[in-house]
Amino acid sequence: MTLRLFNTLTGQLDPLEPADGKALRMYACGPTVYDYGHIGNFRTFLQVDVLRRFLLLSGMRVRHVMNITDVDDKIIRNSLEAGIPIGEYTARYVKAFFEDMEALRIQRPEEIARATENIPQMVALVEKLAAAGAAYKTEDGSWYFRLAAFPEYGKLSKKDLSGMEDGARVDVDEYEKDSARDFALWKAAKPGETSWETAIGNGRPGWHIECSAMAMEYLGESLDLHAGGEDLMFPHHENEIAQSETATHKQFARHWMHVRFLLVDGRKMSKSEGNFYTPRDLLLRGFKASAIRLALIAVPYRRQFNFTFDSLTDATNAIDRLRTFRARLTAGNFATGENSAIQEAAKKTAGEFRDALDDDLNTAEALAPVFELVRAGNTAIDQGQFFAGDRDAILPLLEDFDAVFDVLEDRDAEATRRALEWAKETGRMADVAPELLAAQSLTDEAIETLVAERTAAKKARNFARADQIRNELAEKGVVIEDSKDGVRWKRK
Ligand code: AMP
Ligand code: ZN
Repeated sequence: MTLRLFNTLTGQLDPLEPADGKALRMYACGPTVYDYGHIGNFRTFLQVDVLRRFLLLSGMRVRHVMNITDVDDKIIRNSLEAGIPIGEYTARYVKAFFEDMEALRIQRPEEIARATENIPQMVALVEKLAAAGAAYKTEDGSWYFRLAAFPEYGKLSKKDLSGMEDGARVDVDEYEKDSARDFALWKAAKPGETSWETAIGNGRPGWHIECSAMAMEYLGESLDLHAGGEDLMFPHHENEIAQSETATHKQFARHWMHVRFLLVDGRKMSKSEGNFYTPRDLLLRGFKASAIRLALIAVPYRRQFNFTFDSLTDATNAIDRLRTFRARLTAGNFATGENSAIQEAAKKTAGEFRDALDDDLNTAEALAPVFELVRAGNTAIDQGQFFAGDRDAILPLLEDFDAVFDVLEDRDAEATRRALEWAKETGRMADVAPELLAAQSLTDEAIETLVAERTAAKKARNFARADQIRNELAEKGVVIEDSKDGVRWKRK
């Protein structure tokens, strides 16, 4: 089966396939780097990561481009206030963004396109639109897109634009909710602001033209897929379509994916509402990077997700269960043979896992059978009814699972360590949870005592307790290695 993904443009599930039969060319709107990203932003990036990874697992090649908006009103305003050039201002947040991507194990797209490095392409696109009579220059030297030049405007968000006033304009990057207006393609320079001297005048690009120009620069005039959060559907994506299709007379993107919001108490998580957490905030509160990742992807992308701390605790427990199970499989000494019920269950799980993701990336339904299998496997092991053939059937399945979910390898301590370093550098140690600080200061003696207790527990065949101690130490960044010569431990 191939993945059927909801397409905002057609309003139905459509198969997602590369038009050229080779690689899927996808563009996802990236961050505006005026501040740290919050977990709402990362929910969108994570869900796109799930898509990307599932396509790769299904054997498809992808060419994935993400932009970084490194010039806009807020960036200019904030850098002016800080008295530094915009490049210096955004550098910190670009770096932070990539660190957060890494902590959350979001795969890097094939191409990262920065707005400030693609100005000539944007200028060329404005010129093309001007030549087609779809762009006009205003007295102050700014350029606008004439909505009347694109009668199909509204086809993505299905907005009724009757009553729209010809020539009414907006020059801000953020619209009031429902107003469709001629929008800025290029903003004339104001005194003191960063600007580029170009053939269409001295100024800087509007947000919408950035994405059109960069998507077409790196992926060609017609994309297989364009993705972003649900708030981008209108006006941003609608405007991208208007600009691109007016310039090329080709369909800009065949498939549009919109990730629904992360909410807090029923409201959109956003900077302006002040109801947001960054991944760093959560790491400093003692949550693991893997748990943040799983919590943000476990609810399918097409459902809004009301964020709670409980969801992070649930994800933490779920990951523990998975990791412990895998450790039991890899460390266990199983007799040759097979348990037919486990073989059956493994086959069924593999099928259900793929089917759920093929069905519009239903992550919740993909997870459920995996946990069922873990339960069945654990029971079989406890009862001595689990064999080498069962292990060999389940391990590859866990690998496939992890190719998409990527939570099994424990790299959490590293992400937490980096967050702590950042807290130190930026004077945020007061935000660090006391338990986290305590864990960081676990003494060698305390570790020795726990390791000895674990050895005793193993001798007494109390494996649950032994595993528990191993996990506890692992959480605190201590790894235990069993060898012929005894037990060794080290700090990560
Ligand atoms: P920005 O950095 O504001 O341009 O946003 C980056 C991405 O995050 C965009 O795709 C937005 O649609 C998305 N986004 C913003 N807020 C949320 C939220 N609360 N939940 C999910 N996605 C969001
Ligand atoms: Zn965009």
